[in-house]
Amino acid sequence: MSTYHPLTVQDAISLVRGIPGHFTPDAQLECKEIGDGNLNLVFHITDRNSDKSIIVKQALPYAKVVGESWPLSLDRARIEREALQVQYRLCPGLAPQVFSYDDDLAITVMEDLSDHTIMRKGLIEGQAYPLFARHIGEFTARTLFYTSDLYLNPQEKKEQVRKFINPDLCKITEDLIFDDPYRFSDNNNYPDYLEDEAKELRENGKLHLEVALLREAFLTRTEALVHGDLHTGSIFVTPESTKVIDPEFAYYGPMGFDLGAIIGNLLLNYASRPGWDAAESEVLGNQERLLRMVSDVWSEFEIRFRKLWDEDARDPLAKAPGYQDAYVAKVLRDACGFAGCKMIRRIVGLSHVADIDTIADVKLREKAQRTALAIGKQLVLFNRTIQSGEDIVRLVKEAE
Ligand code: ADP
Ligand code: MG
Ligand code: MG
Ligand code: MG
Repeated sequence: MSTYHPLTVQDAISLVRGIPGHFTPDAQLECKEIGDGNLNLVFHITDRNSDKSIIVKQALPYAKVVGESWPLSLDRARIEREALQVQYRLCPGLAPQVFSYDDDLAITVMEDLSDHTIMRKGLIEGQAYPLFARHIGEFTARTLFYTSDLYLNPQEKKEQVRKFINPDLCKITEDLIFDDPYRFSDNNNYPDYLEDEAKELRENGKLHLEVALLREAFLTRTEALVHGDLHTGSIFVTPESTKVIDPEFAYYGPMGFDLGAIIGNLLLNYASRPGWDAAESEVLGNQERLLRMVSDVWSEFEIRFRKLWDEDARDPLAKAPGYQDAYVAKVLRDACGFAGCKMIRRIVGLSHVADIDTIADVKLREKAQRTALAIGKQLVLFNRTIQSGEDIVRLVKEAE
């Protein structure tokens, strides 16, 4: 057993030398810390004598952004590692392989995906990912279906729920997504010119009702093992390949939470286009492509999820007339509502997205922020009325 300490690059090199089957004894290992997050270290280790490389991710016991004053449980490293293993078992092409881990050191050693790009960066650059909707539809359908009561027996499932109790990271979501944006909070972070919007978020009772219902779903509904942080910064892509990383927020929650994260982040990029694309035609082209991606993500999920249900459900009542339709409809409404919550918090809450915040022109940035808030509010306010993926697209268009 090793006592926890943050690794140096030398520690990381020694650690991976000891993992059987990777580097040869004569490997000349180089290591760089490449983490861009606030909560973890990420070491990239390469061998000068071969094309082999590996990643070591280590959880820090506090959030870097506010110094050491925001403590976070190291158990989240185990949760992330176990979630990665579940995801890789269910979707081997869509998640990194875990090679080794040390729960005392809060370390996961995994496949290096540096030949991929973080999707948020690619989207900002206007890249198209024609296979993305299919891949993420497969990832969400399989990881959510096979960890739910539709497939597992209720006893087995409760064992799994117990393994993924993740209070510290759930609290981050509860505070930053469902609480702070709707009241005065020191965590909120927005420019003075958005005070009118912030005031409206604090005072809109209809919005508060919908957020309360969505928050209740997040707190109470253990439907399936959700990734919990499935934004476009947690997805590595190439035009041919999609790999989901960083499931440290994983817990048993509502299926719509992951779909909502993807949809909300695609729509944040949608709102940002006037800040990135020179010509009006380019803005419209990219926005149209992003809207199609949103409805494709939903339909690719729905097709696969229904097929898994038809072929593999073990729930004795799975074939009850209308049950599948009712279940899928609920997931869609939740996805719409959570997408909206995630958009709103990325504009007025603590943590923002580069799609919007790195727009150089202040006027265009403000325009993107207001568009994102308008869409976000629309998705939250009307989440319980929608019946199809196309309805999400309609709500987006109505918001403008
Ligand atoms: P955090 O939880 O701190 O956000 P991430 O798991 O998102 O950590 O990793 C932070 C960054 O480290 C990623 O954006 C990516 O650049 C890099 N990274 C993480 N995992 C891998 C990997 N398996 N292969 C290559 N790079 C990775
Ligand atoms: Mg990060
Ligand atoms: Mg991350
Ligand atoms: Mg993370």
